[in-house]
Amino acid sequence: MLRFAANNSEMAADTPDAVRYNRVRRWLEIGDFALGLGFLLFLVLTGWSGQLRDWAYRAAFQNYTLAVLLYVLMLLVVAKLVSFPLDYSGFRLERRYQLSNQRLRAWLKDEVKGFIVTFVIGAIVVELLYFAIRQFPENWWLITWALFMGLFIAMAQLAPLILFPIFYKFEPLEDEELKRRLVRLSEQAGTRVRGVYKWNLSEKSKKANAALTGLGSTRRIILADTLLDNYSPDEIEAVLAHELGHHVHKHILKSIAVQAGIALFGFWAANFVLHLAIERWRMFETLSDFASLPLLVLVSTVLSFLLMPALNAYSRFNERQADRYAFQSIHSVDPFISSMNKLAAQNLAERTPSKWVEWFFHSHPAISRRVEAAQNWGRLRLAPASRP
Ligand SMILES: [Zn+2]
Repeated sequence: MLRFAANNSEMAADTPDAVRYNRVRRWLEIGDFALGLGFLLFLVLTGWSGQLRDWAYRAAFQNYTLAVLLYVLMLLVVAKLVSFPLDYSGFRLERRYQLSNQRLRAWLKDEVKGFIVTFVIGAIVVELLYFAIRQFPENWWLITWALFMGLFIAMAQLAPLILFPIFYKFEPLEDEELKRRLVRLSEQAGTRVRGVYKWNLSEKSKKANAALTGLGSTRRIILADTLLDNYSPDEIEAVLAHELGHHVHKHILKSIAVQAGIALFGFWAANFVLHLAIERWRMFETLSDFASLPLLVLVSTVLSFLLMPALNAYSRFNERQADRYAFQSIHSVDPFISSMNKLAAQNLAERTPSKWVEWFFHSHPAISRRVEAAQNWGRLRLAPASRP
């Protein structure tokens, strides 16, 4: 009994490496956020945004649409230069703890791709935003909200087809045994997932991962090859069952609904602040002055920051629901528990983060809690049923 207890507490303790890695990573995230906030404040308070706008106008021969495009480009370039040292530190950190398989060149290539994708999406969003502001000065925030939600839903649907393949390779899962298990799990759930894909994560990372992605006809489960290669069929089935739990409980759709509610409030707040900036603070002369963009981004950044604990709590609630779904659909919770332990070791995750870290930063419950929930489930639900 005593030995068992000692083993248990050993299992729950995090290695010094895991603690240090996660602490540095968290500080990088906090630093990145603080830097972004400082950059936006600097642009808004010093009038530098107006300077950038004037340059954009001159370079665009006074054409409004082209000037918006150039302004977005300049803003993103400066923002990238400001955040690059921290991004690079993040890359070095993954290398130092042997979690990344990427060389500097490949990482830089991804950085360039990421920048182009951000620019394309950012340009579309900002052009639409200021188009709506000019056309509908009274209700622009409501119209933009509706437009953006449409765009967001389209992106959720298209992301597995056009966005993810820019960074990773995917192929349909060939493993017949796993497919058979998934079909059985899906039939049990009275639902159908359109596909299971192997996600070639190993060319970049040593970490394992799995997810439910897409919407409607593109909804699919993706399983990293780093998981498929190192986990037993029972363990992979437990992971599949968890992802299927997200599907059964319609978590993607519910999250979009939550995002829509928050975005509606966000656009209303942005309109409120924009009017204050023009009428009270005399920062801009007209509603259509796109030098106000950093101010609007600032509003959304502050809002996301304030809502982060609540959104993470909601996400952890969904994860617990998906876990419970997994416990129900598999015969034993042991493969779930062993997959969790493997995942923690492989990803250098903290099994027992401090309470406030979990509360503020984590979208998933701590691994120690997930394992504990599985053990409790096994004791209460599975054991009595298996007795003759
Ligand atoms: Zn999940």
